[in-house]
Amino acid sequence: MYGGSKALFFALSRIRALKRLASKYGMASPDSFARRFIAGETVEEAIRDARLLQERGMLLTLDYLGESVRTMDEAAAATREYVRLIDVIVASGIERNISLKLTQLGVDVDRATCVDNLRRILIPAGKHGFFVRMDMENSRYTDVTLEVFETLWQQEYRNIGLALQSALRRTEQDVLRMIALGARVRLVKGAYKEPPAAAFQKKPEVDEAFRRLMRVLLERGTYPAIATHDEVLIADTRAFARERNIGRDRFEFQMLYGIRRDLQASLVADGHRLRIYLPFGQQWFPYFMRRLGERPANVGFVLRALVRER
Ligand SMILES: Cc1cc2nc3c(=O)[nH]c(=O)nc-3n(C[C@H](O)[C@H](O)[C@H](O)COP(=O)(O)OP(=O)(O)OC[C@H]3O[C@@H](n4cnc5c(N)ncnc54)[C@H](O)[C@@H]3O)c2cc1C
Repeated sequence: MYGGSKALFFALSRIRALKRLASKYGMASPDSFARRFIAGETVEEAIRDARLLQERGMLLTLDYLGESVRTMDEAAAATREYVRLIDVIVASGIERNISLKLTQLGVDVDRATCVDNLRRILIPAGKHGFFVRMDMENSRYTDVTLEVFETLWQQEYRNIGLALQSALRRTEQDVLRMIALGARVRLVKGAYKEPPAAAFQKKPEVDEAFRRLMRVLLERGTYPAIATHDEVLIADTRAFARERNIGRDRFEFQMLYGIRRDLQASLVADGHRLRIYLPFGQQWFPYFMRRLGERPANVGFVLRALVRER
């Protein structure tokens, strides 16, 4: 079931009629179902939620949703939106931290243009003191993401970090590669359905790899982000940090907007740094379907919301 539900929801996410239906109802009103995981379709809605999270003592990263663009025009439009987002964030006074995806900036169309697009974002981001995290997409993109990251790092862009997935067999090597650079890693389990050659297929294996990599990153990494809602792994992280005398200012936890809000509040109450990944934008459907795939019980919640709304 672990990989099965991911595959099912990925397949469903490709069905256009479903996308149209979800798009119609998912964000229609303030309590529509997609709003549980997505701040809204506009940057204003994201800024409003960001302020509320900050008031509760949380850090944040804003993600302008979009991925898998097929034309240079779409990639250029996404790039312009990110540049605009930087200005809006600066004007709003919220924390200066964004996340983005390479397929949103056109890596599937032309790699060199994608890197140019990324630079167009990194230059104003650097000027205004932003941190920019590159999300990790499915394993077809791991190499290119690392290569683009390293190219930019060599060009002295240092306001960047990336995400690595414990589900992938290769990740230990990649973690060491990032540690050698001194780059910041966000450790996640991995949201994509992957083939057995590339990834562990059983949840206990993914969790065990996460635990192992968390330890390596806490001991030897540069301000790592431990991004999970898994209570056991969070408790393990806290215990390991205590045992090794690793201060709470040397790492942060990260969670997704709308998921385990109880756990989010309790980590902050305990004095831990917690960053919330806050997605917004019109292209929310694939992100939303990944959240359903992680926890099929969420479908019940969507159906209940739909029945209420109609
Ligand atoms: C800040 C952040 C950034 C991320 N960036 C990336 C990225 O760049 N690339 C990538 O591949 N993945 C990314 N992910 C997603 C990640 O890979 C996992 O798919 C996701 O976090 C679910 O795994 P988990 O670690 O919470 O553990 P799980 O074992 O899946 O879940 C642990 C518990 O968390 C709760 N939970 C988990 N997911 C949900 C959900 N969807 N709805 C409701 N409850 C849920 C449940 O209580 C569950 O029992 C990111 C996750 C976070 C928190």
